[in-house]
Amino acid sequence: MRKLLHIQNLDCPVCAEALQSDLRKIKGVTDAQVEYLSQTIALEYESEAALQKAIKTANRFEEVKVLDGGMVAAKEDLHGREWLQILSSALFLLSGILFEFFVEWTVAAYVLYAASYLAVGYPVLLSTAKNIAKGRIFDENFLMTVASVGAIALGEFLEGVAVMFLYQLGELLQSMAVGASRKSVTELMALKSERATRIKGEAQEEITPEEAQIGDILLVKAGEKAPTDGELLSESALLDYQSLTGEAELCTVRAGDEVLSGGINAGDSYTMRATSPYQESRVGRILEMVENAAAGKAAPEKFIAKFAKFYTPIVCLLAVVLAVVAPLLGGLLADGRLYFWRFPRFFHSALTFLVISCPCALVISVPLTYFSGVGRCAKEGILVKGATYLDTLAKTQTVAFDKTGTLTEGVFAARSLSPAQAGGERELLNVAAALEKHSAHPIAKAFANDTPYTASDVREKAGKGLVGKIEGKDVAVGNRALLQEEGIFAPEIESEHTLVYVAKGKDYLGCIEIGDRVRAESKASIEALNGMGIQTVMWTGDNEKRAKAIANEVGMVALNAKLLPDEKLKKAEEAKREGVLTYIGDGMNDAPVMLAADCAVSMGKLGSAAAVEASDVVLVKDDLSALPKAVKIAKRTRSIVFQNIVGSIATKVGCMALGAAGALPLWGAVFADVGVMLLAVLNALRVKR
Ligand code: ADP
Ligand code: MG
Repeated sequence: MRKLLHIQNLDCPVCAEALQSDLRKIKGVTDAQVEYLSQTIALEYESEAALQKAIKTANRFEEVKVLDGGMVAAKEDLHGREWLQILSSALFLLSGILFEFFVEWTVAAYVLYAASYLAVGYPVLLSTAKNIAKGRIFDENFLMTVASVGAIALGEFLEGVAVMFLYQLGELLQSMAVGASRKSVTELMALKSERATRIKGEAQEEITPEEAQIGDILLVKAGEKAPTDGELLSESALLDYQSLTGEAELCTVRAGDEVLSGGINAGDSYTMRATSPYQESRVGRILEMVENAAAGKAAPEKFIAKFAKFYTPIVCLLAVVLAVVAPLLGGLLADGRLYFWRFPRFFHSALTFLVISCPCALVISVPLTYFSGVGRCAKEGILVKGATYLDTLAKTQTVAFDKTGTLTEGVFAARSLSPAQAGGERELLNVAAALEKHSAHPIAKAFANDTPYTASDVREKAGKGLVGKIEGKDVAVGNRALLQEEGIFAPEIESEHTLVYVAKGKDYLGCIEIGDRVRAESKASIEALNGMGIQTVMWTGDNEKRAKAIANEVGMVALNAKLLPDEKLKKAEEAKREGVLTYIGDGMNDAPVMLAADCAVSMGKLGSAAAVEASDVVLVKDDLSALPKAVKIAKRTRSIVFQNIVGSIATKVGCMALGAAGALPLWGAVFADVGVMLLAVLNALRVKR
């Protein structure tokens, strides 16, 4: 069983990992993914008891609270308590300085310093004690405790207080910045309705969308959102799907029609019957995708997580070397005796190292950048299933397009009929319609006409068409290759449109020319991609002539026509050998290519459920221009990630050099550390602009 729990008050990525390992130790919990940025726990468990135990464990972890009903935290945290601590600490600190240097009443100064230290430091000291008791050392709290207590032990009272003060101020600012970015992602969650009204006989009851079951009668009042997918019971309803599909036009649905979750009721209240539980509704699935996106970590994120694991212990070790080995060696060299030579100076350097050993700037800013990138994409109607695909998009060298339904609208209509025998038009359409009723291919929509025939044994020949039986006779509907395969001769007809050939028995009945329009935004999107140095190519199962006509219209140079699904797959393997490949399609006949490509993009509305499932990126609004937009956001995200990695590491190394040379005061190290972290976080937020 799987469940996504929303939590509150999880403080940092390191804590997330600690909680994660606690959860994984529970018997009956098979997997747990704790995400700091989205504040979620994705739990896989075997029994209800295990779930309850996991919730209990999470609730007992530091300040974490599990929110019930899976509701997204609505309450805004204004950090009132933290600001109070910072302000009172600042007040004590300033008065302390006043007493030490101007009034020169040292005792009073020290008392004030102590008050200032405790005002901001007590939560840190408390966590350190708790964590050590649990055998968990080497976290930020521990480092700051050692650094500040060390400074105080050296008699540097002011410095000790400054370390703790700056650290806590930085934490507060960072948590506010992260909160702001989290908010922009949770805005998406506004798609979900907060509550629903269930009708039971005469009575009405308020429930959460999660509680709605298939078959429930739900009342949706004016202005409310449909809580889950369903079927309209009222005579008609006026729905606003803009936030879901981007379509500004209101949509009128009639009794028996489908009502999609997230649609805002723009008319009078109506009733509907739920046809799916919330988790499987349109909105439920979109939100799950966004929330799970954090789990698909990008390579730089994984690198940073690993880096942090080694970095901290190594720098701490260096600190010990500086505090113990260096002065002993110094004494031996300077005076030929074994003693702690210039101990305070070395000890001070060691403390600086400890302060710098905290990798927070990286550990927070890198995932935050990806998180913001995924959120930014979602705002544009682009669902990215994981940070790692954002990376692949940024590195893409080739984009291969499917034709039908992707470059074109995939809305077909019959344009002209060429029957083999005069007067054969009706028969031609009737046979085609009987078979196409069994197909989900966009072409099939052109044959919605009534037919006296019913076809049996219909099989789809991927990339070619359909074969089946009508009144005991073999029939084939598809391209010329299909008829040839069936041993039926069909004349080669010149056309700029898609041709559907029809045969019955062993007779060629004729050919139907069907038209499909190129999407309005195809050309501009391809130009935009080419402008970024990305190659574009069309892979289609359609004939050469038709493919060329479309390619010309959209300004594409490279194309491969008459490709069967397995040949598309071979093309994909070839292209992958040359560089990173992104494939975009509607999922008809191309699900295998989608799985093979480095990054698969699908059209959300037109695309089949299988395509949306198989793809890594979904263009929710079926708008091709979202693809170059996604690549742009991805590139920007990646470059900000690298700026942050290089910037933070450079600052750390610089501080270490200065610290070792004894040229950096402790508060300077904290200042640099907090400063870089804030800069990195602010830089991460730039993705959203
Ligand atoms: P594309 O790459 O253009 O999306 P497909 O690989 O889906 O094309 O299909 C290739 C060709 O096979 C179509 O152009 C059409 O001629 C034929 N075909 C596929 N499915 C059908 C169908 N259901 N009915 C008629 N023709 C079909
Ligand atoms: Mg297709």
